[in-house]
Formats: sequence, structure tokens, C-alpha cells
Amino acid sequence: MTGRQDIPRLVLFPQTAEVNQKDHLVIGGCDAVALAEEFGTPLYVFDEVGLRRRCAEFTTEFRQRYPDTTVCYSAKAFSTKAMLQLVKEEGLDLDVVSGGELGIALSVDFPAERIHFPGNNKSAEELETAIQCGIGHIVVDNPYELDMLREIAGNRKVNILLRLSPGIDPHTHRYNTTGTVDSKFGFTRSTWDEAVATALAAPNLNVDGLHFHIGSGIFEMEPYEKAIEVVLEYAAAIKQKHHLEIRVLSIGGGFGVQYTLEEAPPPIATWAEVIVNKITSQCRELELSLPKLIIEPGRAIVARAGVALYRVGVIKDIPNVRCYVCVDGGMGDNIRQPMYGARQEALVANRVAARETGKVTVAGKYCEQGDILIEEISLPAVKAGDILALADGGAYCVPLQSNYNASPRPAIVFVREGKARLIRCRETLQDLTRCDIV
Ligand SMILES: *Cc1c(COP(=O)(O)O)cnc(C)c1O
Repeated sequence: MTGRQDIPRLVLFPQTAEVNQKDHLVIGGCDAVALAEEFGTPLYVFDEVGLRRRCAEFTTEFRQRYPDTTVCYSAKAFSTKAMLQLVKEEGLDLDVVSGGELGIALSVDFPAERIHFPGNNKSAEELETAIQCGIGHIVVDNPYELDMLREIAGNRKVNILLRLSPGIDPHTHRYNTTGTVDSKFGFTRSTWDEAVATALAAPNLNVDGLHFHIGSGIFEMEPYEKAIEVVLEYAAAIKQKHHLEIRVLSIGGGFGVQYTLEEAPPPIATWAEVIVNKITSQCRELELSLPKLIIEPGRAIVARAGVALYRVGVIKDIPNVRCYVCVDGGMGDNIRQPMYGARQEALVANRVAARETGKVTVAGKYCEQGDILIEEISLPAVKAGDILALADGGAYCVPLQSNYNASPRPAIVFVREGKARLIRCRETLQDLTRCDIV
């Protein structure tokens, strides 16, 4: 086996990634080239050990510093039945943002009281389903929803958190920024007082606490600290005015992930240290009792555990311009580059240790010039038939997939200790036309 020191990019691949004697990439004890043969490409491969370790790491690092922490996996990062089953087994709570995600969770018997439901424009039907199943919390986002929920709840009692927009910029991509003043998410500052008064006066709403979520892919500590400060100060104001202390504080998710060798986010232990210190010192200062803490990581749990495998086809080398390496997937299975300008790294899975020979652009097979997986990457010489492995493919790839160009969405396997388990079949032509009517 080749060590990580020989192949720097391996640190971006799943925790169990290694290289075997054939110079093939191995994940969860499975040869990636063999997986591509067996299940076809594009193929999404998830390292089950890595997924479980991340769940445990968040829980341990936060609870050893702040025992009353609930780790709540944000389903929208990756939410197949097998994944939600795994999250259930690991004892995490779950965040869902739609009736669809809630439905998947309930279909694997995820305990409803461990599910929380944020979202900026929930439908009456979604709220009704959530109440009926006995959801843990509805994270109320805006005045319209608050009114709607009071109405729909009727004579049932619903636990809620109020999502405040704290007006903090986490310095991430504009599309990944959710807690600034100019955001569609959460109660704007000027509406906080009324929201709290209205919610507290509603006999069918149980206001458990406050929620914020400032964005995604965050590398800095300071935005969290600032948001905690703003929101706990407001909790103190609520205490003064309504003689009532919040029982729950959710600080959302957004913890960044290492997508490149140049830039790494802090480890979970550091996030935990800084966040917990801020909450405890701020509560002490404001004479608030320590609330239950909810954290809602999505990306940071799944990103690194997932790898996308593609087969290389056409190579179009335009002298002095660019060399396109075209693979059999692209924006239909991973739209992160076109949508956010996201950067991911890759290895040639069947020749991992080969010397890099030059820069190429990895493009997909979809009929859009913007269908790019990697804008520029240094790779060994590639040829048709090679298997390209894209790192950090676990978060926000699968859930954003489409059937553009009538492409079936790829199969997904969980790998563990040398065994691969198919957890989603590749779509077929029948699937593509299943809802069509002639
Ligand atoms: C998307 C989302 C998260 C998870 O964000 P990540 O960046 O994947 O950690 C957490 N909470 C809420 C409310 C969200 O909308």
C-alpha cells in the first residue's frame, strides 16, 4: 500500500482511502476500479466507516465540552434511506427542509420527536404532516408561517424554535450565505419582538428557543461567535421582558470542509471549543442558564465520505488553449462547479501514483458549455477508459442531481471492510418516463 505522504490529494478522500499494489484507489477496502466495473459509472461511493466516525466525532467533541448537545444531521446534504437509517443508528437527530425529506425519514422509522423542520416557505400540507407525525420542532422562519402554524395547529400543541436572521456575514459564497440582513431566511431583526410576543401568546405553540443558521462552507469562527452574541443578547432581552428563559439554542450548521490542499477548515474539536466557550461565557455574563445546544452539520458529516467515479471518454486537446478531459457524468450528477464555482480535486483511480503531466479541464457529457466538473487540475496523462475519482463528493451532489439530457441518475454504494452494498440503483429508461402521459 502507498502511504498518504506519497499522494497528497489522498487526504481529501475518505478516511479509509488507500492505494493497493495495482496502484488503484481503494475505499472502505474496495478497489475503486473494480467497483466501477461491477456497478458501472458514474458511481457514487460512500465510506460507511467515515460517515459513522464523523457522526461520532461531532457528538463526542461537543458533548465532552457541553454535555447537553444534540447533533442534528441536516438531511439536505445527502438523504437516501440508507443514509437516514445510518444517522438514526448513530443516535443523531435530523433536520429536514421539506415534506419529501420528512417522508424519507419516516419511511425508515426515524423517531419523529428527533426530527426538526426548518425551511423558508413550508406549505400548509407540510406543516400539517409534521404536526401529525409528532415532529420535534418546527423551526418557524417568518411572520407568515407563524400565523399559518397557529391556525393549522388548532388544539394541538406544537414545539417551535424561532429562526432569527442575525445579520452576520460568514464570508462564504453568496448562495451559501443565509444569515445576513439580505436573506430570504429567518425573522429580520425588526420583526423579532412581535414574533416572540405572538408566539408566546399562542396557547398551541410551545416556544422552546431560538435558532440561527448563517450559511454553509464556513471556515471562520468569528461569524458563529458574533451570531451567538447577538442571539443570546436577545435571549436576555426576552428574559427581561417576558420573564422566560430559552431552553434551546440552535446554532445551525455550515461547518466548512477541506476541498483543496491549500485551504483547510478548523477541526471539529476547535469548532466545539470556540462555540462552547462563547455560549458559556455569554450566558454567564448575561445571567442566563445554559440552554440545550443543537448543532446541525450536513456537509461536514458527508462531504469527505463520498467519492464520485467516472469513466473518461473523449479527450479534446486544443493546442495553446485547453485540454478537455470528458467523463461520462457531469452537471446532471454534480452541479456544484457551475452553481457555486465549487472546487473539487480528483485522482486517476487506476493509476493513482502516476506522475502528473499537465493541467486539464474535466468536463461532463451534458449539452452545456458550463458543464464543468473541475476547471483546472493537474493530472497524469489520461486516456479513454481511465477511471477518474472525484474527492469530496458526499455533500450536495446527489441531492442536486437532475435528469437533464434524459440521463439516468447514478447508482450509489456504501463500502465497508471490503464489501460494497448497493443503496440506490441506477435509474433506468422506465424511471425517466415514469410520470409521463401520452
Ligand atoms: C442547510 C442547513 C444546514 C446544514 O448546512 P451545512 O453547510 O451542510 O452544514 C443546517 N441548518 C439549516 C437550517 C440548514 O438549512
